[in-house]
Amino acid sequence: MFQPFEYREGVLYCEGVELSKIADHAATPCYVYSARAILDRFHSYDQGLFGIPHRVCYAVKANSNLSLLNMLAQAGAGFDIVSGGELHRVLKAGGDPGKVVFSGVGKTREEIDSALQLGIHSFNCESEAEIALISSLASRLGKTASIALRVNPDVDAATHPYISTGLKEHKFGIDIAEVEGVYQRAAALPGISLDGVSCHIGSQLLDPAPLLEAATKMLALVGRLRAKGIAIKELDLGGGLGVPYHAGDPRPDVDTFLRKIRQLVDGHNLFLMFEPGRSVVAEAGALVSRVLYRKKNGEKEFVIIDASMTELIRPALYEAHHEILPLRKSKFGTVVANIVGPVCESGDFLAENREVANVLPGDLIAIMTAGAYGFAMASNYNSRVRPCEILVEGDTWRVIRQRETLDDLIRGEEL
Ligand SMILES: *Cc1c(COP(=O)(O)O)cnc(C)c1O
Repeated sequence: MFQPFEYREGVLYCEGVELSKIADHAATPCYVYSARAILDRFHSYDQGLFGIPHRVCYAVKANSNLSLLNMLAQAGAGFDIVSGGELHRVLKAGGDPGKVVFSGVGKTREEIDSALQLGIHSFNCESEAEIALISSLASRLGKTASIALRVNPDVDAATHPYISTGLKEHKFGIDIAEVEGVYQRAAALPGISLDGVSCHIGSQLLDPAPLLEAATKMLALVGRLRAKGIAIKELDLGGGLGVPYHAGDPRPDVDTFLRKIRQLVDGHNLFLMFEPGRSVVAEAGALVSRVLYRKKNGEKEFVIIDASMTELIRPALYEAHHEILPLRKSKFGTVVANIVGPVCESGDFLAENREVANVLPGDLIAIMTAGAYGFAMASNYNSRVRPCEILVEGDTWRVIRQRETLDDLIRGEEL
């Protein structure tokens, strides 16, 4: 696995570029991504499935920057989308609508209609009412929509409750115990073709065992559906593989995981799809920020930085851990502190009670493993402009999204 960020003589680099050079030119906070790391991760999926019919559909919601989508489209990726907005991005980035799968529990009539007109590959449907709507809209357009039902295989992904989706009590998918009846009723509807089954049990799975359990249940389901005359051709196993947010975390090996999947699906005559998001982009990105102040309240040390929950909400939302590294190693030891942003919320922290380098005002730090669900979840809360995004390719770097301006903050508003 290519490691995009590393120290050279005490200075932190992304590929061949010194991060502090980027920070000095582009200002902070800024997101920095390694092109090579993203392509490396994508290829590990694509090559792990070499020789069997497959498509890797990158989950756009993890990071939807046009340049990243364009890079992945050129590498042959399909795309997993969850909104009409994401479909718009895929098209603008040069992606092929024929390689798009549309997931999500709440697709609107307008979103379905435009996806049908653009000729996307398929819909992952999450309810009987949604199937009926797609059937009627496709019929009206004289089209046949390719459909997979998103099955809830009732597997415990053993991840954070907010990113676990594969248990009966979750809003996602159709209960595996009821799905055969849904397929049989849907088989009578016009305008749709029941081509696939799909699942996605959760995110940040460091142990692939639940994914393999889900795959086993899905293959048994394919057998039962085929026995009832429903000609399933495609199996979509979703995304979900995790990344090592803690320095010591295990790294799930995509290759080993796919080898096990290949053994399971061997002989089943299925077109295989995956929808990885986090595992493609997370490790490729860092959020670079400058220290504004240090202060002490009682015994508590605070490092106040210019990045906050509006750039990276994962610590506040999921109690997520991100390693924090100084851009320049120093001799001044470490300090145990809360790393906090300027936003007026007690939940606005990037790390709590963390031993970090003893950084001083003006010093630069990098919040690591921030390429997924970082910028994509950024907000303008507290009327903060969203940061710029930078892509590093070898020894060069360029801005792939400009920092917002103050006028961007009020665009569309009226007095
Ligand atoms: C979020 C999501 C993914 C991507 O999940 P990761 O954990 O980022 O790989 C894939 N498929 C669906 C349906 C999703 O909602």
